[in-house]
Amino acid sequence: MKHIPERMCVGCRKKTAKSDLIRIVQTADGICVDKKQNITARGVYICKNVQCIALAKKKKALSRQFRQGIADSVYDGLAKELENE
Ligand SMILES: [Zn+2]
Repeated sequence: MKHIPERMCVGCRKKTAKSDLIRIVQTADGICVDKKQNITARGVYICKNVQCIALAKKKKALSRQFRQGIADSVYDGLAKELENE
């Protein structure tokens, strides 16, 4: 049996297969989506849906994870990126 790596979503806090999540990383250039999930940086995972991004925004989950203030516009940008996929 193949082991499926699971990660916790910072929005709903449910454990989900890594492939069903998007990875968000903190780089020198700011917060961005790690589409290939291969950027070596501090990262968090979130479900591929706008509801979870809204939840994370409400809870300021990214600010907590990255230990810095994350503007609401960053969450809105992530939601927009998902909509465009
Ligand atoms: Zn979620």
